[in-house]
Amino acid sequence: MTDGSLPRIVADTPLDEVVLELLDGRVEIVPWSVALEGSDSSVTGLYTYGHLPVDGPMMDRLPGLKVISNYGVGVDHIHLPDARERNIPVGNTPGILNGATADMAFTLLLAAGRRLVEGDRYARGPEFTHYDPGYILGREIHGSVLGIIGMGRIGTQVAQRAQGFEMRVLYHNRTRRPDIEAELGVQYAEFETLLAESDYVVLMVPLTDETRGLIDAAALAKMKPTATLVNIARGPVVDTQALYEALRDGVIYAAGLDVTDPEPLPRDHPLLGLENVTIAPHLGSATIETRQKMAEMSVANLMAGLAGDELLNRIEGP
Ligand code: NAP
Repeated sequence: MTDGSLPRIVADTPLDEVVLELLDGRVEIVPWSVALEGSDSSVTGLYTYGHLPVDGPMMDRLPGLKVISNYGVGVDHIHLPDARERNIPVGNTPGILNGATADMAFTLLLAAGRRLVEGDRYARGPEFTHYDPGYILGREIHGSVLGIIGMGRIGTQVAQRAQGFEMRVLYHNRTRRPDIEAELGVQYAEFETLLAESDYVVLMVPLTDETRGLIDAAALAKMKPTATLVNIARGPVVDTQALYEALRDGVIYAAGLDVTDPEPLPRDHPLLGLENVTIAPHLGSATIETRQKMAEMSVANLMAGLAGDELLNRIEGP
């Protein structure tokens, strides 16, 4: 700013401490409500942190907008065609969270398959008075078949981790990936074949019009009754009611969920009462190290956009 005042940005609050430190003295933070009501042409940046929707009408209420920067890789809450139409660059934080998110996918897979959380509850409870070789038996992980739906940046790292567990890995994408097949020995499978043959199905697709409700009652019915579903992509990729019924009725064995639809689930939602679901409050990238990198990259994207420079990571499609 030539007059010495700081650029004004609308931000989804509360902001992470690291983000706040990085923004300190560089921007003036305006609450999200400004973007929801009225119009403010002095705002030049939008910093999105959670999943609050950003669409064309919101962009039009902020006619001075030069950049939208998202803390995270998934941008299903931002209407990208509207941003492109208005020539507003959108930045995100791909790559740097692959390892942490793949670790969490595997954490959920292991915990759900081996009933770890159920075991934890039992081990702390009054009923645990002696060891019993017959209780809380889970399913094998090593040597089983892993199906990854969405073999992109994070999916590839999930496949790498599966090698240590001697798993056979199937994957499904819209585009076949011969490079990853050669490198990791994974096999391409049609969607329904993957569902039918996998002991663990990990969802790693972005949320789009095509993937919304991808795992519905029909898809769940194609899975093995001994199979576990892990959703670390986005909640709406799975039909929540269909998943609840499948878990309740033994159509599938278990689920590990990092994301849900809605998120969070209402506190009295019946899914939360099932033993065979292991659930995390969207912790995919939640490590101290990765969150630091996400903060740095998202703030760098924001500052570049405010200065009229190229973003470090600008989303091109869809
Ligand atoms: P990515 O590199 O773009 O990979 C996504 C993969 O999904 C691609 O291989 C893509 O291949 C495939 N895909 C897209 N649409 C598909 C469809 N309709 N059917 C089948 N496959 C499809 O993205 P990423 O960085 O790995 O991240 C993936 C998603 O994970 C993000 O969009 C985000 O929503 C989620 N995520 C969640 C967390 C968390 O905290 N839980 C953290 C990070 C990311 P094709 O284009 O060939 O189909």
